[in-house]
Amino acid sequence: MYRYQGFEIATLADLDTAQKAVLLRVDFNVPINSAGGVEDTARIEAALPTLARLLEKNAKVLIMSHLGRPKGRPEQRYSLEPVASVLAQRLNRPVLFVEDPLSAGGRSAITAQPLGSVTLFENVRFWPAEEANDAAWAKYFRDLAEVFVNDAFGVMHRAHASTDALPRLFDQKAMGLLVEQELDYFHGRLKTPQRPFAVVLGGAKVSDKIKVIEALLKKADFLFIGGAMAYTFALAQGRAVGSSLCEPDCVSVAQRVMAAAKEQAVELFLPTDTLITDRLDFTQRSVGTLKVAEGDIPEDWEGVDIGPKTIERYTAKLQQAKTILWNGPMGVFEIPACAKGTLAMAAAIEATGALTIVGGGDSLSAARQSQCQFSFMSTGGGASLALLEERILPGLLALKG
Ligand code: AMP
Repeated sequence: MYRYQGFEIATLADLDTAQKAVLLRVDFNVPINSAGGVEDTARIEAALPTLARLLEKNAKVLIMSHLGRPKGRPEQRYSLEPVASVLAQRLNRPVLFVEDPLSAGGRSAITAQPLGSVTLFENVRFWPAEEANDAAWAKYFRDLAEVFVNDAFGVMHRAHASTDALPRLFDQKAMGLLVEQELDYFHGRLKTPQRPFAVVLGGAKVSDKIKVIEALLKKADFLFIGGAMAYTFALAQGRAVGSSLCEPDCVSVAQRVMAAAKEQAVELFLPTDTLITDRLDFTQRSVGTLKVAEGDIPEDWEGVDIGPKTIERYTAKLQQAKTILWNGPMGVFEIPACAKGTLAMAAAIEATGALTIVGGGDSLSAARQSQCQFSFMSTGGGASLALLEERILPGLLALKG
């Protein structure tokens, strides 16, 4: 049993899944390329340990997942069908793909599946009932299985039908091995981190991460800021940021964070130099002239990465850390000319030999691009942030025994 926010959740080890029909919610929200193939299989691989455990026990596995945001109706580009063939390859056994599990034909195909088989249902978000957390829709799926396992860490912070209404209908339910591992890092090890504990935060918006910044200020020893988020802090210090992405509405939030850091003796690090450009075309992945600015950014120029002095300063200080959490790129890392700060931080984090945790979303693709090794890379952006904020995740609450 796993103790979480005052209640207990069964793990796979606590659940009898032998020879049972198991409904398994996973996060197969993988990128699909223009040829209709799976671009990155990391999320499929992350679900394999749980699948292997269930198949060892000769369970009949029925898999549910979402992919993208299809808005409650079928859309070919969000179909899970390409995932079924990757999964069959990885498991080295057939995977039955059921396009409409609610149809009579779908139902009889599911019922006819033997023990030890794997079935993947079409994207749950093709039905509006999923995001509406519809209990009647959930009841249909409830009747297909004896046991429910949720291993979809990436959506644990959402109260949707497959993460909330559905598990509530089961007595026999557990978290999967991936969720257990994510909790071990974000809920376990980061609760009492080895010190100094450094947090590296980047990405686009302060507003997205303000709650997590506030929660982390209570725990961290060093807080490094990068990405577009840094320009809101620069505004708060009275500096000019040109046409950089920033949130003038959040200046007071940034000021509050700076004051709180001082009060709580957290060392806050902000960029002192910035890579700037006079033209950024994100779609074409191109930039115009690049130069480094220290202090103010001229009008019509835009900050796209942390500068070399900032990289040096952040890298040196990071070496003292014993635990590091990294969430969000330091710049527009998708464009190689603006990826230097992000890649340098990845290398610096790796070189510390500390416990290093990368928190989902864009940080994950940046981390993979760097080819650096980290202790743990989370599969869930929003869910890992919600855990750090110490919010109770609806998907976990619905698994309460
Ligand atoms: P987030 O989802 O908040 O972690 O933000 C990730 C996104 O922030 C990535 O797509 C980056 O390209 C973007 N980003 C990081 N730094 C900047 C910047 N200086 N200007 C514009 N976008 C940025």
